[in-house]
Amino acid sequence: MTTTQQAHYTALRERVLPRVQQLAHVIDGTFTVGESTETFVSLNPATNEPIATAPVASPADVERAVQAARRAFDEGPWPRLPAAERARILRRIAEGIRARADEIAVLESTDTGIPITQIREAQVLRAADNFDFFAEMATRITGESYPVDTTFLNYTVRRPVGVAALITPWNTPFMLETWKVAPCLAAGNTCILKPASWSPLSATLLAEIVQEAGVPPGAFNLLYGPGEQVGEALAAHPAVNLVSFTGETTTGKRLMRVGADTLKRFSMELGGKSPVLVFADADLDRALDAAIFGVFSLNGERCTAGSRLLVERTIYDTFVDRLIQRVRNIRVGDPLDPATEVGPLIHQRQLARVQGYLALGQQEGARLAVGGERPSDPALARGNYLRPALFVDVQPTMRIAQEEIFGPVLCVIPFSTEEEALRIANGVKYGLAAYLWTSDVTRAMRLAPALEAGMVWVNSQNVRDLRTPFGGMKESGIGREGGFYSFEFYTEVKTIHVALGTHRIPRMGVGQ
Ligand code: NAD
Repeated sequence: MTTTQQAHYTALRERVLPRVQQLAHVIDGTFTVGESTETFVSLNPATNEPIATAPVASPADVERAVQAARRAFDEGPWPRLPAAERARILRRIAEGIRARADEIAVLESTDTGIPITQIREAQVLRAADNFDFFAEMATRITGESYPVDTTFLNYTVRRPVGVAALITPWNTPFMLETWKVAPCLAAGNTCILKPASWSPLSATLLAEIVQEAGVPPGAFNLLYGPGEQVGEALAAHPAVNLVSFTGETTTGKRLMRVGADTLKRFSMELGGKSPVLVFADADLDRALDAAIFGVFSLNGERCTAGSRLLVERTIYDTFVDRLIQRVRNIRVGDPLDPATEVGPLIHQRQLARVQGYLALGQQEGARLAVGGERPSDPALARGNYLRPALFVDVQPTMRIAQEEIFGPVLCVIPFSTEEEALRIANGVKYGLAAYLWTSDVTRAMRLAPALEAGMVWVNSQNVRDLRTPFGGMKESGIGREGGFYSFEFYTEVKTIHVALGTHRIPRMGVGQ
């Protein structure tokens, strides 16, 4: 079964890859390599062989894309379509994604190294759901009314804001791109998507699907190129109104400085170092499953990864022993093999970065209980593979417990009391997610609001309803997206004051 599936995916890859070997921007509805002769190459993390070449957008390309989006917003049909009509087109995008789910999954897995099962069964379907969900939401945008006795009716309307720059990271690119494009278009904005350069492939499929669904030219544009060049040019451009950014905290800070002169509206989804708190009274089997999946799925390259595991001392030794057994058994391998649980890291530079943290942790005095080595299988020698690593007896102040590693590394920290657990959990600069395992309801209700995180899961892994707000506090971000929170960002609220009678107007210039 596994072999048949793997053979299917491999054959599909052979068919699809040649078609996307030369990527192109999309400007004003046309696929084009643009004016620059500069290019970059995307590598397969499993082999480090080149799989596609992408053009680097020149300043002139950026200008053309921004002007196309501007025209499409100022004069084009997209913002003026009835919401139900936009919704129909967005639903066609969702259908297009589902129809090409295998193809998208295979390309994404080949481009990122993330195991095919995790992409095919979760990420791609979620990407389709994003379009269905925001299609529905677009038809439900409402306003408020503020009647003042019989003299005034004040009311609000929500309008699209304008041109959005959507800048996305290399981890789970396809899903994250749809997470921005869907609400942005649903609200009637136009956009320029700028994907990360380490995983540019799947954005091109998204562009094809968006076009086939009938999104008019200029409403959706796609530009490739380095963030410092293309991302900054978009953030600085006076005709761009909004920037939705997902990426590293340091990049987000820089981007805000670049956008300050033109007073951009920003949504910032940034890094994390999320804690998992396991109390002795928890369902330890489920907590164990969730702790492992929460940090090692998506190769650990996951913003909401539970990368710090805080375990109550009374169960610490047994829990750590069980962890070691399980982590040792994680199947590292070819990302197109459905049996693979952890694939190669996205890039040699990311592998080196994670290995740097493995060395640092040992220098700092943490014990590397298992993993962290390159797999011995010669079939994996050319890829950026790393065995999932478990640091135990970690001190909360160590850099490995403070900094985002963004790889398959889990740091385990013991605690004795609830107060200590909370102090450790909150003792980092990030505040994206937190996971809490306890069967004591009162404790859960006490701790959940006290944890400094934009999202807290209690006795649960990271399962998210699309209506709920997603985002981080502290250095994990600014703003929330998801549900109507996305429209807080992607729409402009206007207040309209209507006089219902002849209220008093102070008269000037009429003399005494
Ligand atoms: P990154 O910050 O390096 O890059 C993200 C995007 O920004 C890329 O498209 C990149 O080209 C662009 N960019 C880089 N420098 C830029 C600049 N100076 N100006 C404008 N754009 C620039 O992040 P990454 O390494 O691609 O992704 C990993 C990071 O993303 C991690 O920190 C992770 O936690 C974070 N992330 C956060 C979330 C979330 O929702 N909070 C989700 C996924 C990833």
